Amino acid sequence: MNIILLGPPGAGKGTQARKLVAERGMVQLSTGDMLREAKSSGTAMGNKVAAIMDAGQLVTDDIVIGLIEEKLEGDHAGGFIFDGFPRTLPQADALGALLEKHGTTLDAVIEMRVDDDALVARITARSTCGACGEVYNDQTKPIPSDGKCSNCGGTEFKRRADDNEESLRTRLMEYYKKTSPLIGYYYAKGDLSSIDGLGEINVVAKAISGVLDS
Ligand code: AMP
Repeated sequence: MNIILLGPPGAGKGTQARKLVAERGMVQLSTGDMLREAKSSGTAMGNKVAAIMDAGQLVTDDIVIGLIEEKLEGDHAGGFIFDGFPRTLPQADALGALLEKHGTTLDAVIEMRVDDDALVARITARSTCGACGEVYNDQTKPIPSDGKCSNCGGTEFKRRADDNEESLRTRLMEYYKKTSPLIGYYYAKGDLSSIDGLGEINVVAKAISGVLDS
């Protein structure tokens, strides 16, 4: 089963994708994670996109399509969760063509709806475990008082360079201008399901399972 998690920054796509990986053996393909990895390891591509990402703008379609194309070559028995990809109409067309080339299809596109005020509150309070990527929130899920990640025991936590109000404003504008047209695109194909992304993590997970198991 191949699915897309669609939603603005901070909607909880990464958190839900990680749960699906753990519970259903699916493979998470996050272009944001791939780009951050390229950035921190200082590859030529990473250096090229670093300033664009920090400003909250989208990197070019050819770069992210190339990243996804590489990953689709690997093992995909459990199916893919596309997290943060596609983000533009050309990316969506490219994904459709790539899946077809691999003899597979898209099974569901899940739009996670969260209002803008909640996004700002979530993102400015967000940190992650440096070792396993577990997501924490200063208000709703603080880092444990012993300073150890509840998932892996890691002791280093980081905040994303683009998780600040200014960059978030740009990321939201990019979402509304370039990514939200995908809602209509997938609705027209009959692939779209929309869920409330505002609730507690397990409640949202249940809504996603409801779509996948229907
Ligand atoms: P994310 O972790 O998904 O919020 O992505 C972080 C940043 O990486 C975005 O703000 C963009 O700069 C870049 N990025 C990630 N995925 C894409 C994509 N599919 N298309 C263009 N830029 C992307």
